[in-house]
Amino acid sequence: MLSYKNVILGGGLTAGYAAQTFAEMGSQPGDLCIVSAEGTLPYERPSLSKGFLAGEEDRADILINEPEFYRDNGIEVLLDTAVTHVDFNKKRLYAGDNEIAYEKLLIATGARPHTLDLPGSDLDNIFYLRQIGDARQIRQQAQRADTAVVIGGSFIGMEAASVLQSEGVEVTMIFPKRVFGRRFYAANVCLFERYYRDRGVTILPGQQIASFRGDGKVRYVVTQSGQKLLVDLVVAGIGVQPNGDLFANSALELANGAIIVNRFLQTNLPDVLAAGDVTRYRSTLYERPLHIEHWDNAVAQGQHAAKLLLGELQPFEHVPYFFSDVFDLSYEFWGDVRGANEVVHRGAVADGEFSAWWLGEDGRLLAAFVMNRPEEERDCAPYWIQSGQALSADWLRHSKTFTAKMAAP
Ligand SMILES: Cc1cc2nc3c(=O)[nH]c(=O)nc-3n(C[C@H](O)[C@H](O)[C@H](O)COP(=O)(O)OP(=O)(O)OC[C@H]3O[C@@H](n4cnc5c(N)ncnc54)[C@H](O)[C@@H]3O)c2cc1C
Repeated sequence: MLSYKNVILGGGLTAGYAAQTFAEMGSQPGDLCIVSAEGTLPYERPSLSKGFLAGEEDRADILINEPEFYRDNGIEVLLDTAVTHVDFNKKRLYAGDNEIAYEKLLIATGARPHTLDLPGSDLDNIFYLRQIGDARQIRQQAQRADTAVVIGGSFIGMEAASVLQSEGVEVTMIFPKRVFGRRFYAANVCLFERYYRDRGVTILPGQQIASFRGDGKVRYVVTQSGQKLLVDLVVAGIGVQPNGDLFANSALELANGAIIVNRFLQTNLPDVLAAGDVTRYRSTLYERPLHIEHWDNAVAQGQHAAKLLLGELQPFEHVPYFFSDVFDLSYEFWGDVRGANEVVHRGAVADGEFSAWWLGEDGRLLAAFVMNRPEEERDCAPYWIQSGQALSADWLRHSKTFTAKMAAP
């Protein structure tokens, strides 16, 4: 039996950044073990729908830490090791023939893509995008594909579509509502749809898939309205499900597959923490539970949880943050739009140089979207959200400049 002071269950983004903090805080060799179902050391997952998918980066480029980092710091990483059972009373993980004992456990099992359950959805060349192998396969198929259908209008679908179209594949995007769904609706739906169309992407919003047809490989996508599209490749980005099912019959508290943690990232069980996409944490900022599936959250929670493993008890205070790159546009988003009753725009939406600011009833800034705007807007957005800054819509709309981090009227 293997035995460690600290074990991280899951070898993704959270684990990679937790390990860094662990090492920085002077942990001793042999104190930490990462147990991962994947065959690759923790890597930057966002690259899978950007540089890695485009063939601009390879495996070594996207590793969070070099292999030597784990060796030099005495951090054990068990790859290709899927944990099938956790005994919280005995403090043991079970993975095949492996039994791994821990004193403290950090669960960072992330999330997995929702899959389609439609006639023909088991045909080859229908892909989901979560792991390095998925991106590799999509890339290989894209090299010999003329046409692709991307299902889903959220960030994975948008990014995959932009890479495939840029690689010379003719892309059709299909999704039930509008791009980005409810979240960014006010800000930029029209801009993005137009931007994609101008670059040759066919966009079919308000559509759903009825079935896939083909002989072994997918050949046609049939929509519910009866449209039949010839395809070589399908990529579906239709959301994810937190990987908490492993604990469904345990005493660990879950909500819809996510592990419930308090404001410190502690679960309801002693010596068990959870971080990253698998959690629903109590936000001190919004005073409600938040479930976030983004890079910055995984990084910050991983770092925070590592400190907690080493005995530093602090509440996790964080402004949710998200970035994305599509074609030659890069944008960032902070906060949470729920509860907003006014959206103020600055700049030129039609030219893709703008920011959008969501204000609550009391004028408090709740969320902000920034694309191609002065640096000070990027600086102010998280600062004002974090500090609960009330802003006048008029001032926000008309003020020529913000002085970074200044107290706004
Ligand atoms: C293609 C793609 C693009 C993205 N782009 C962006 C972006 O542009 N901006 C942004 O903010 N966010 C982006 N994200 C989201 C971001 O990558 C995730 O929020 C982040 O990876 C979450 O980290 P995590 O450690 O919680 O989960 P993961 O990184 O998914 O890691 C979970 C790990 O746990 C392992 N695991 C699960 N179950 C078990 C088990 N039973 N036993 C052992 N190991 C197990 C998994 O194999 C995996 O290694 C993107 C995600 C994807 C998939």
